[in-house]
Amino acid sequence: MAYAYDDQNIFAKILRGEIPNRTVMETEHSLAFEDISPRAPQHVLVIPKGPYVTYDHFAAEASDAEILDYTRTVAKVAQQMGVTPDAGAGYRMLSNAGPDGHQEVPHLHIHIFAGTYLGEMID
Ligand code: C5P
Repeated sequence: MAYAYDDQNIFAKILRGEIPNRTVMETEHSLAFEDISPRAPQHVLVIPKGPYVTYDHFAAEASDAEILDYTRTVAKVAQQMGVTPDAGAGYRMLSNAGPDGHQEVPHLHIHIFAGTYLGEMID
């Protein structure tokens, strides 16, 4: 079954500038911003600018340039946050997909959680 992208979702509105966000990094194909309701001391969302619902949708349909940009942006954001293991810290990446994955916003986003020992927190 093909994905249908809802361009009225909240992240589409953020990308169009209709809703404010606290941007931490922007590239040609990606945007990273602070989660409005942080569930860790540092909680950033990284989204592609293109209309993709989930990671599997993105990986199947995005261009190589979009995939390279997005992949590298996630890593650069973690480095900018100062939480990579080579800085002596650590972080967790998470992307919820679909109803069973508890995805609330139907635009692909990777959560980066950091700033504390995350233990077994999974959402
Ligand atoms: O993975 P899931 O779809 O549940 O995550 C959506 C995330 O988007 C939540 O962590 C929520 O706090 C965040 N959000 C946001 N800004 C908004 C609306 C939702 O950062 N305006």
